[in-house]
Amino acid sequence: MRRASDPRTYDLDALRDRLLPEDEGTVNDSIPQLAAADPGLCGIALVLPDGSIRASAQADLPFSVQSAVKPFLFALALQDTDGAALDRIGIEPTGEAFDAIKLESGTGRPPNPMVNAGALLTAALVDGDDVEARNDRILRGLSAFAARPLEVDEEIARDEHLMGDRNHALAHLMRSEGTLGVSADDAVAVYARACAVLVDATALAVMGATLACGGVNPVTGERVVAAAVARDVMSVMATCGVYDGSGRWMRTVGVPAKSSVSGAIVLAAPGRLGAAIVSPPLDAQGTSVRGRIASERLSADLGLHAFGPH
Ligand code: GLN
Repeated sequence: MRRASDPRTYDLDALRDRLLPEDEGTVNDSIPQLAAADPGLCGIALVLPDGSIRASAQADLPFSVQSAVKPFLFALALQDTDGAALDRIGIEPTGEAFDAIKLESGTGRPPNPMVNAGALLTAALVDGDDVEARNDRILRGLSAFAARPLEVDEEIARDEHLMGDRNHALAHLMRSEGTLGVSADDAVAVYARACAVLVDATALAVMGATLACGGVNPVTGERVVAAAVARDVMSVMATCGVYDGSGRWMRTVGVPAKSSVSGAIVLAAPGRLGAAIVSPPLDAQGTSVRGRIASERLSADLGLHAFGPH
């Protein structure tokens, strides 16, 4: 068996250099700001339980978090409802695309918190009496996960709200099933704004590390969510985080993760580290191509696969 490398000395820039020639994949073009992303962008960061941060070149370049926000919206919803969010949402993988117009059969609940229907609901379940209060709670909560004050790209938030026809459709479908609770437009507004939060690979890796460290941010020492919440979130990331690519992901990477249309992937290896990779070209399941390869390499080199070999 190959000995695992030490994450404290692992050469992230060498990994990045090996990824750069990879030119498969397509940049998402659902909104102009995503379509304009540099396909050559590639940043990688690791955050360890002692709070130390390792980062490659470009790990400090900003991008909108998009669906990589979903585990953290789920975490905040679980925290704010004392776990009752689990009565409102399924936790089974769908085997379908992130924006499939589909709810759980029989209940009309969203299938899981990692697809858009589920994230529209979790964003509606965080504390706050109106859109503004929920937006505020989400931004403060995400900032606590990231160990720095995060900001929203207002243009992206507006375009996601205006152009997210499938998200409006999903919100209306949940309204018709009686499973949403807030107005369809309010739900899309809050979710769209959460997707438009700007992060960089380092901030996203700190967010992943906070889950990996049982809900305590290893950089600030702050408990952001309960340990049971972090465990629930990582369980659902493991089974549903890469949509219809989740089975293959678990076999080849073996680390709970979440992909996103901006080309970011956040990983939470329980007790070991948080990691994030950003590189915009995506495969057919909407997973960053370089992000997938980097995740497979990191998992193999650092011995991160949940099922060994250990
Ligand atoms: N904001 C995007 C959407 O809802 C996020 C989707 C994603 O990253 N997969 O369409």
